Amino acid sequence: MSLRLVLLGPPGSGKGTQAVGLAEALGVPAISTGAIFRDNLARETELGKTAGQYMSAGQLVPDEVTNAMVADRLSQPDVAAGFILDGYPRNLEQVAELDAMLAERGLELDLAIELTLDHGLVIERLLRRAEIEGRADDTEPVIRERLAVYRQSTEPISGAYAARSKLASVDGDGSIEDVAARLRKVCQPAG
Ligand code: AMP
Repeated sequence: MSLRLVLLGPPGSGKGTQAVGLAEALGVPAISTGAIFRDNLARETELGKTAGQYMSAGQLVPDEVTNAMVADRLSQPDVAAGFILDGYPRNLEQVAELDAMLAERGLELDLAIELTLDHGLVIERLLRRAEIEGRADDTEPVIRERLAVYRQSTEPISGAYAARSKLASVDGDGSIEDVAARLRKVCQPAG
């Protein structure tokens, strides 16, 4: 059975790592909008150049750019098995856009899973990741901006999914394997 999932959570909550692991466990692709943007940035495509200006400031890439990219990705054949979206949707407009993209195909989202993590831990993890991965947007001022954008634009998404009984919350504090096990458990009833 195909599962269509969205993984939510603040930057630094382990979303990216967990999306990849869960996707493998479920046999569906993990689709990370941030990773697609970074790949385009590295290849110096037009999309990468546009996105890069916003990413380096910790701001959201404009919806029309992001939505078009996601629509294109969701039209690829591997998505028939389902998907885990990581980093999309990131505001209420993108929630509506995702609904519309799926409705066009006669589909709907199964579940949004929110990884929760204490604010202090988030900053600590992001600064550690900055040292390890050297991501350009993991410097302290950009991290603060990304967290502010998260609180203002992305956090309200949880409420929107909760209102339609499509939200599950998972504690993101713990080892990668502990959190992965919690996520797999939450996916069982939906699958
Ligand atoms: P991430 O890897 O998910 O933390 O994303 C890195 C950056 O890519 C974000 O700070 C945004 O600038 C951009 N980005 C990723 N996903 C989206 C999205 N759904 N909407 C707008 N911008 C995004």
